[in-house]
Amino acid sequence: MTRDNARLGLAALCAVAVLMLAVLSVWASGPLRDGIFFACGLFAAGAALFAWSRGTLDQKASDMTRIGSASDKTLTWMDLAAAMPDPAIVLDEASVILNYNSAARALFERLRQGVPLEHVNRDPELIAAVSGTLRNGEKNTARLVPRGSAGQRLIATVAPLGITGEHPPIAALITIHDESEQHRLLEMRTDFIANASHELRTPLASVRGFIETLQGPARNDEKARERFLAIMADQAERMTRLIDDLLLLSRVEEKANLKPTGRVDLNDLIEDVLRSLQPFAEERSVAIDVEPASDPLMAMGDRDELFQVFHNLVENAVKYGRDGGYVKISLTKKASGRERFPTLAVVSISDNGPGIAPEHLPRLTERFYRVSAEHSRNIGGTGLGLAIVKHVLNRHQGELSVQSVVGQGTTFKVALPAYK
Ligand code: ADP
Repeated sequence: MTRDNARLGLAALCAVAVLMLAVLSVWASGPLRDGIFFACGLFAAGAALFAWSRGTLDQKASDMTRIGSASDKTLTWMDLAAAMPDPAIVLDEASVILNYNSAARALFERLRQGVPLEHVNRDPELIAAVSGTLRNGEKNTARLVPRGSAGQRLIATVAPLGITGEHPPIAALITIHDESEQHRLLEMRTDFIANASHELRTPLASVRGFIETLQGPARNDEKARERFLAIMADQAERMTRLIDDLLLLSRVEEKANLKPTGRVDLNDLIEDVLRSLQPFAEERSVAIDVEPASDPLMAMGDRDELFQVFHNLVENAVKYGRDGGYVKISLTKKASGRERFPTLAVVSISDNGPGIAPEHLPRLTERFYRVSAEHSRNIGGTGLGLAIVKHVLNRHQGELSVQSVVGQGTTFKVALPAYK
């Protein structure tokens, strides 16, 4: 039984006894009546004593909640709690909830003052952290797994309040921090490093293998040497491409919060992109057809970064399109329907290649995501081209969309804020 329950039981007993004595006193007389009045006085004193002890408890709670005063207003726990962005709960020394803020109420729907914490949350880690803190005054943390929230990661910190000398704390403060986003970023970084190392290790292992062969069994084999050196040059080029793309991605990420301010004529830019890709398209017998915008199409942006965007998309269309097929590029202007950027420049790049199955479309811009890793590597892909496109477009407040029909081809569309 908790101390509060014991007090309530005592109060109820007092009330019943006083009521019974009052009824008895109506028909009793003489010494019996005097005795009844004496007993009444005794119970009234008991009730008063109880009321005083209750008041002391309330006083304790309110003392604990007062945090200072500014001008003529006393600041209370609620003022402080309301300003706290994270959920916060104060417990007394028996782990009963004294107070909490609205963020905590949003997290635990059964949260109420005066009930033990176990009635609100039975997470064993949290309960152990709280009792540890209340017992020895140390700060503890606990990982919470809220029901029905896949992947959410909450960390509760339990701190002691009101420690004096050797005495245990008179209360504890629980604050809860949502670390889901931090955790997700950490996981992404770990995956990224693992993927990048794997991508580098493969060509590196191949180069080392050929060096050993050339130093050993193929030392005097002229023909083998020529062939192996050509493969080694290919692998070295693959590593260079990967490092270039990694550096480019990290440069774009660094600038993610800086809005670009330049003006770029997209008709001109696409011409430059095609000039740089013409030899590659000829090698694969792919015809590139451009339908420019009738007027100059001025987009807001950084020329080098936008060059990279269209270079990656057109190169992919040639690379993953059909050998001897075509790539069509069209540039248009359209109204966005939004107040902020009323005009958009839209560049669409279509190929008549094998297309992409629908289940891959949502993941194409993830780093190192490829429909076929083998095919991508064989034709010089790094798996970072579309991730770079996405990051550059985010910084430019642009959008990328993709439509694909298996067996017919793929269209990537870029929409960028444009000058009228
Ligand atoms: P990669 O360096 O492998 O080309 P990207 O990020 O540029 O990496 O592209 C990711 C994947 O998307 C590619 O591996 C390929 O499977 C697919 N892809 C991109 N563009 C096209 C396209 N035009 N047609 C078919 N598949 C494409």
